[in-house]
Amino acid sequence: GKGDEVLVPAISWIATSEAVSSVGATTVFVDLDEYYTLDPKAIEAKITPKTKVIIPVHLYGQPADMPAIMAIAKAHNLLVLEDCAQAHGATIEGKKVGTWGNAASFSFYPGKNLGAYGDAGAMLTNDAEVAEKVRRISNHGQLKKHDHLIEGRNSRMDTLQAAVLSVKLPYLDEWSKLRVKHANSYNQLMQGSHIKKPQVRANATHVYHLYVVRIPQRESVKKQLTAQGIQTSIHYPTALPFLPCYASMKHQPADFPSAYKFQQEILSLPIFPELTDEQIQFVSEAFIKINTHEDSSQKIN
Ligand SMILES: *Cc1c(COP(=O)(O)O)cnc(C)c1O
Repeated sequence: GKGDEVLVPAISWIATSEAVSSVGATTVFVDLDEYYTLDPKAIEAKITPKTKVIIPVHLYGQPADMPAIMAIAKAHNLLVLEDCAQAHGATIEGKKVGTWGNAASFSFYPGKNLGAYGDAGAMLTNDAEVAEKVRRISNHGQLKKHDHLIEGRNSRMDTLQAAVLSVKLPYLDEWSKLRVKHANSYNQLMQGSHIKKPQVRANATHVYHLYVVRIPQRESVKKQLTAQGIQTSIHYPTALPFLPCYASMKHQPADFPSAYKFQQEILSLPIFPELTDEQIQFVSEAFIKINTHEDSSQKIN
């Protein structure tokens, strides 16, 4: 609530920091590590007596460094809320995302690894009190008809979305495996190029909601790929601290050197379970060809 500070990674979808503002708390942004998730080394400097919660985001489908983050949270008596919107089923040290912190949120927006036909989401927690409160809030403050202990809102998952998700859920693991297979194919086909491929933590599984590379001449490469019928995207072109809605925080690029660098270089290549080997080959070849033509003296590191 008001007066509390919540640590949020400098690159995420805006929903992560919106959640903080929606309860009147203050977002404090933290820079990223080379895996595009909260940098544990940057967290401690941001902790003040007002800090209450850390929100790691398992961005692009790869778990944040949960062992390190949980240790910091424990040492400073902080709660951990995992944003699992992009990482359904990803693991670190064999333990699934969403089971590390005090609570976790999942999105079933149609474009996510498990998507409904409209909007839907879920929360996980092993805290019975939190579970009850979440249930109440999601259904206008009632658990049973007319027992409005508190005011809530309408965050019920509608029946049609639930039905779609029930049918799709059994396929999730298989779809994740295909995403990993496709990412490995991209990695192999782009071996030896100076393109910065996604790095995977030694103790983690990545579920590749997105396959994000880094290249120096991003805008030009993106344009040339589009001309060949290959759609790419940028997740996200502006890191959260530099968005107009947070201008009052007056952040400078030097406050988040990694996030600032990443926002200029990241490019998401097509990835989804149904991609074919031919399509991956087509994209990789086009991508490498364009990049060799670009000024490759501007090396990425
Ligand atoms: C999609 C997404 C959300 C928000 O999910 P909604 O279902 O739109 O509320 C939150 N965080 C991240 C990282 C996301 O990608």
